[in-house]
Amino acid sequence: MASLPRKHLFDLPEGVIYLDGNSLGPLPRGVAERLERCVHKEWGEMLIRGWNEAQWMDQPARVGNKIARLIGAPEGAVVIGDTLSIKVYQALASALEMRPDRKVVLSDNGNFPTDLYMAEGLLRSLGRGHELRTPPPEEVADAITEEVAVVMLTQVDYRTGRMHDFTAITQKAHAVGAVMIWDLAHSAGAVPVDMVANNAEFAVGCTYKYLNGGPGAPAFIYVRPDIADTVRPALSGWLGHEAPFAFDLGYRPGRAVERMRVGTPPVLQATALEEALSVWDGLTMAEVRARSIELSERFIREVEARCPDLTLLSPRDPMARGSQVSFGFSESYAAIQALIERGVIGDFRAPDAMRFGFTPLYIDEGDVVRAAEIIEDVMANRLWDNPAYKARSRVT
Ligand SMILES: *Cc1c(COP(=O)(O)O)cnc(C)c1O
Repeated sequence: MASLPRKHLFDLPEGVIYLDGNSLGPLPRGVAERLERCVHKEWGEMLIRGWNEAQWMDQPARVGNKIARLIGAPEGAVVIGDTLSIKVYQALASALEMRPDRKVVLSDNGNFPTDLYMAEGLLRSLGRGHELRTPPPEEVADAITEEVAVVMLTQVDYRTGRMHDFTAITQKAHAVGAVMIWDLAHSAGAVPVDMVANNAEFAVGCTYKYLNGGPGAPAFIYVRPDIADTVRPALSGWLGHEAPFAFDLGYRPGRAVERMRVGTPPVLQATALEEALSVWDGLTMAEVRARSIELSERFIREVEARCPDLTLLSPRDPMARGSQVSFGFSESYAAIQALIERGVIGDFRAPDAMRFGFTPLYIDEGDVVRAAEIIEDVMANRLWDNPAYKARSRVT
């Protein structure tokens, strides 16, 4: 475990304990310099030649390969682009085309709302009488029946960190003939994921959380290699075409997962992400996970011993929990604001969760204990009880 933490690879402000890398990862050190080069040397000097000379056009697949390693996917099975909401839509649209005779999409009511919103919009515009079912997460496995065309779930719950049984659910979906889509938004870079062993058809995720790609960094999509040459993309943009620069009037899907590209890639954002991914060099997810469990177990112990008013919302069993810990408290919004002012950055999720992410790349045991001391101070001395902390900002 000697290689963790790697705080020196991050540009974190002095005096801050950053427990929100599950929402927006911090700035890795090399990124600013790499972006500077991309702007001046590539965009500035190469101009249009950058597409070839700086290999901007290959970047979505190149960066996809770096992410593939972190989710147990083979080379050539992942591309980046767009936002996660768009990638959810693409995966679901292609999955539904694989099961034209079935009309049910199964998700759960703990899913991140945009996944459900995108599904609703897609099903409405298909106009073929599909139904979106959202039972509670604990009831999902039993709701996987032969009516289900697609099971679309987020592995780690964004509020509580609760984890679905990744293997059992995929197996059940396949046993009834349904297509499986996993959203790895809170898994990629947080918990070990093995897409090859899991055998799900699709996975999607974002890169600005545990992968530290920066605000608005592009999302990723994985398509299982054996079906990648037959899935039909609904967002059939020119850069997912077999030969974009032939400018044919008819669409022919590109090779394998490349067909999930849509339009011009966000080169600056992708460059930031590409550089940010180098902080994972030489690390295994097993190592990260082991440290993450140690840190979150310590955090739970410290906070429960110090703060009787907080109730654990996350699963107590670390194997059933992702890389975050949430506590419930009636004034959790104000408590989080009080903590932020004292250098402990977590966040609030409606209705009452105080959420803390554990990212062993730059958080260590000392940070955990110090954070628990500050939380104790805020709780024991009611420091949250201040009108300035109760006015809600647009982004919580
Ligand atoms: C963070 C997150 C999103 C965000 O979607 P964007 O389109 O990138 O804004 C979507 N789904 C899940 C499950 C998330 O955790």
